[in-house]
Amino acid sequence: NSDVAMYHAKENGRNNYQFFTDELNKSAHERHTLGLDLRYALERNELVLHYQPIMDMPDHQLHSVEALLRWRHPQHKLIAPDKFINLAEETGLIIPIGEWVVKTVCEQINAWQARGYRIPKVAINLSARQFRDKELINNIARILDETGVAAHHITLEITESMLIDNIEKVVETLNCLNAMGIRISIDDFGTGYSSLSYLKRFPIHTLKIDRTFVRDIVTDRSDHTIVATIIAMAHSLEMDVIAEGIETEEQLNLLRAQHCNHYQGYYFSKPVTAAEIEYMLIKPASRHRKIHAIRSAG
Ligand code: C2E
Ligand code: MG
Ligand code: MG
Ligand code: MG
Repeated sequence: NSDVAMYHAKENGRNNYQFFTDELNKSAHERHTLGLDLRYALERNELVLHYQPIMDMPDHQLHSVEALLRWRHPQHKLIAPDKFINLAEETGLIIPIGEWVVKTVCEQINAWQARGYRIPKVAINLSARQFRDKELINNIARILDETGVAAHHITLEITESMLIDNIEKVVETLNCLNAMGIRISIDDFGTGYSSLSYLKRFPIHTLKIDRTFVRDIVTDRSDHTIVATIIAMAHSLEMDVIAEGIETEEQLNLLRAQHCNHYQGYYFSKPVTAAEIEYMLIKPASRHRKIHAIRSAG
């Protein structure tokens, strides 16, 4: 493919060819620099977690939150994970970064608790290399132990493609996490290769319907049918369903009519800082006091 592009560029004269290779070098160079920077992102404290609410209906209560990684690169604005997770995977940096994510989530849970909030469940994304890492279970167990966070607060999100090779090993890992009390969610469900009957072999609590199905659910009959089918079958296997990427009320209403359990998307909230999440957390004690104060004032 790039040979063809080179050939055409050459045909159009030397300058074009020059231009083309310069562009190639630039992106390779940029990638290399970003890779070097990423090595220091952790120790320079440039990584940050945002949290996106996952809602319950009908009362718009907070069900849980998903932790989503961002990189405050000094020369760029906030960098989204799609721009650096692959790089972290290729370089192996995803292992220490992933540990940092788990540790930071646990510390955040403790901070919310210390401030008197009812703790939401927190979902953490794992990439393929993290999931295959021999030390995954030990590392998570150690962090839970060190921070004193109960395992049932944590959900791990993996994708269908991670279930496919070395099934014996996958079953062992998931059973072990499940025995610890950690919940497992299948992210971006419907985009990879797996059938629901196949999923029965694993201890999975939740399916997250990929947002590409939700996007067109109002206009595309087949997406509508796919979503309805996923929800019905997940429920018959006693799994929860989260619809991701909800942006409109119409999408929400259709999903509610199909008895989806939980809802995530810009319609409710974009991913926000931990401090902003606090506005949505329940603080039983102070709420009580507030109501009491208002009553006695009146
Ligand atoms: P994901 O796990 O599927 O996360 C959902 C993504 O969809 C997030 O993008 C979120 O901001 C976005 N989103 C949520 N609601 C809406 C909506 O209504 N409309 C649209 N257009 N988008 C919506 P984000 O934060 O850029 O993350 C992208 C991906 O990066 C994640 O996809 C996940 O696969 C990966 N990722 C994020 N954080 C981590 C992490 O800590 N570790 C690992 N390994 N991967 C992560
Ligand atoms: Mg996710
Ligand atoms: Mg997802
Ligand atoms: Mg996704």
